[in-house]
Formats: sequence, structure tokens, C-alpha cells
Amino acid sequence: MQITEKQLAQVNDRIKALIKSNSFYGKKLEEAGITEVNSYEEFLKLPFSEKKDLRDAYPLGLMTAPEEEIVRIHSSSGTTGTPVIIPYTQKDVDDWSEMFRRCYEVAGITNMDRIHITPGYGLWTAGIGFQLGCEKLGAMAIPMGPGNTDKQLEMMQSLKSTVLCSTSSYALLLAEEIEKRGIKDKIHLKKGVIGSERWSEKMRRNISEKLGIELYDIYGLTEIYGPGIGINCEHNTGMHIWDDYLYLEIIDPVTGQPVPDGEEGEIVITTLVKEGAPLIRYRTHDLSRIIPGKCPCGRSYPRIDTIKGRTDDMMKIKGVNVFPSQIEEILGQFEEISSEYQIRISHLDGKDTMRIYVETNGSVDFAGLAKRIAEKVKSSIGFTPLVKVVEIGVLPRSMKKTARVIDERYD
Ligand code: ZN
Repeated sequence: MQITEKQLAQVNDRIKALIKSNSFYGKKLEEAGITEVNSYEEFLKLPFSEKKDLRDAYPLGLMTAPEEEIVRIHSSSGTTGTPVIIPYTQKDVDDWSEMFRRCYEVAGITNMDRIHITPGYGLWTAGIGFQLGCEKLGAMAIPMGPGNTDKQLEMMQSLKSTVLCSTSSYALLLAEEIEKRGIKDKIHLKKGVIGSERWSEKMRRNISEKLGIELYDIYGLTEIYGPGIGINCEHNTGMHIWDDYLYLEIIDPVTGQPVPDGEEGEIVITTLVKEGAPLIRYRTHDLSRIIPGKCPCGRSYPRIDTIKGRTDDMMKIKGVNVFPSQIEEILGQFEEISSEYQIRISHLDGKDTMRIYVETNGSVDFAGLAKRIAEKVKSSIGFTPLVKVVEIGVLPRSMKKTARVIDERYD
């Protein structure tokens, strides 16, 4: 997707601000002798930014606006190492809330909705982002945060929540709990806005059917405002991305070159108007593709496909490169198993081994099913995994993100 004249002018404005502030990236651009870009070709020569750079800028090296204009920071929840700190100006917060309001609007949510927010509040951008957009829309926020399923269900019934915001893992957990307790007729949910992790089509169907709601996939990352930078519309043909705030590229993760629209690659984002911490060509490591053509809804915002995984999710098994999403797609073809699965990779007797755990109910022949799944993986990907079939409900459910791939080779 070529950059427009207007976007190019916005990028130049951000380059000027970065250099003027002498911030982390300002210095980098200055060292590289870059003061502006005048064409798409020149834009492609701009260096990428990486999570590692952001860590190197800890604590406030990314701050590009004057301190008196910074109204808050957020921090990404990195499990290892130095956190990333992103400063926001009031305009950044307003822009984020407007993007998020637009997401709710595209999902058909109005100021008469009651929005039940289960993502966490704190340093990270999750809960607070859902809340910002909700208040901007004029809907009623129910700021639950995560955990305490009893309380969640109680509030959901008393307050007649109509929209559930959560991770897909927690939505599944709540859906199963509602089914188990037989309280579905007391629940008033109509829609779910689901963010922050990759989920399969099967899981989406499962949650949607159990709760009887329409589901919307929301996209975002802390480094780039937070959740709310794009969402799918009622046609469910990919997520619209707000290109008046962001410029999005898909690149080949190995060569760094842009790939043609429609082809899969890594999402790279440039913020066009962000003041607190503008980012130029930030490598998200999320894998997706631009969906070519126009959406039937008529909106002209570009679309990306559901996130397929992360470039760093790739596993190498017996010399074959595999993404968890490939296994997930195969499992999706077996009607008799649930949407939950677990992949364990270990190193046994000098060989890499993949074990896949799946769930089904007691009426299915476990051994026969395991054999069919193993054969399907062999024929589609090229190696034979060990498949273990267990009863539905045995695999772990989670309130946040469910760890579905466990690599035991380096323990
Ligand atoms: Zn659309």
C-alpha cells in the first residue's frame, strides 16, 4: 500500500519533531542524516524501529513532546527485561479515545450500551483504552478488570451488560461458566469486543454460539497508543485500520522489503500524528496481510486479516518451520474436538518431538481420532506429531492469555 501525499507530509512533520526534541529516535535520524522524505521510495529507506530500541530508550528516552505537555505514560507488559515506557500528550489520549470510539461505532455499539470491561487496568493500555472509547462514545462503562468470575457474572446480570470486552480466553471461560450455571437467559450480552491474542475461527464460533453474541476483533499494541487502532466491521472481512492516524506496511520479515497487497508478512506501523512518542516504521512482529479491494461496508479504511501469529512464534521441528496457526487450522477441520488445544515441544532421545493435546467428549474413539489428526499433520506439514486426546475441560482455561504452545526444549 503506497503512502499518500498527506501521510508523507505527516511523516515529515514527525521527523522534524523527533529531531527537534533530540529524543532517542531524533538522534538516530540525525546520525543517519535524514531530515525529510519526499517519495514512497525515500520513505522505504527510513530505518525500522524495534522493541529493543524502545527498551534501550528506557525510561523516558522516547519522549518527544515537552515535559509540560506529557499527561501520562503507559508501559508494555514485557515478561522479560526492561519495560518500554510510552509517554502520551493530551492530544495522543484524545486521538486514542477517538479511534476507540470509532471501533465501538463500527461494531454497532451506541451510547445506550452498557460495556463490561474485563481487561486489566494499570500501567498497560488494556482496560483504560476500552474505557476511554466507551466514555467518548457516551456509553456506560462497567470497569470490572479481570478475575473473580462470580462477581463478573453477578454484575453482568444485575447491570444487564450488553457488550463484553475481553481476551478470547476469558470470553471462552465466561461462556462455559454461563452454560454450566444455566444462566444464559439472565445474560443480556449482544456483542463482544475481543482483543490482545490470536484466536482461531473455531474458538470464535464457539464463543459466539455459547453466548449468542456477535464478535468483533480489535487490534492494537501499547507502543502504538494501545488497543483500538482497528476493528472488523459487520461484514467480518478483516480489520479496518485508521489510516488517518497510522500508516501500515506489510513486509517480508526476513528481507525487510514490502510485500504486495494480499501477501502475508509482518505488520510495520508508522504513527502519523502522535506527539508523546512518535514511531517511524515500528516492527510489530505480528503476522497478517492487507486485504485488497473494497469492503462491502463502503468504508475506505484499509483492512488487515486476523493476526496469524508472531514472527517469533515460529517453531522448528525436525527441520520443518511451523507456526502454531498452521496446527490450529488443521485442528479446526475436526468437528469432534473443542477449540482448546495445547502444543508441547520437547527434545527426546536426540529428536524434537511435538505433542498435541486436544479435547473431545466421551462418545468419540480417542485412539482413532489421535491417529487421524497425526496423519493430517503429517500430510499437510511434513512431520508426525504425538497426539493425545483428553476429555473436554481438561486443558487449562485462563482469565488472560492462554499459553497454548509450550517449548520444553530449553528448560
Ligand atoms: Zn467494512
